[in-house]
Amino acid sequence: MFGLSLSKILLTALVIWLVWMLFKRIGGVARQGAARPSPAERARAAAEEVTRRQSAETEKAAGAALELQACPTCGSYGTPGSTCHCGYKHPSA
Ligand SMILES: [Zn+2]
Repeated sequence: MFGLSLSKILLTALVIWLVWMLFKRIGGVARQGAARPSPAERARAAAEEVTRRQSAETEKAAGAALELQACPTCGSYGTPGSTCHCGYKHPSA
């Protein structure tokens, strides 16, 4: 009943191959609309993405530095919520 004959194996392989080709064709048609990027273009896009992420992190660090508050008594800077050496407590953001 579950005997695996050569014809069954070949038929299964043929069906898999046909489905594979069908999906390849569908994928090719879908990608023709949005001009398929070359490997060089993909590498450039990836590099730009990395640069964008790094600059975003740098801006975030700059933003954190800008949150420092000047003490109205002695003029030194402290993070919100911290207490200055002169006793002034910086209000928390
Ligand atoms: Zn102070």
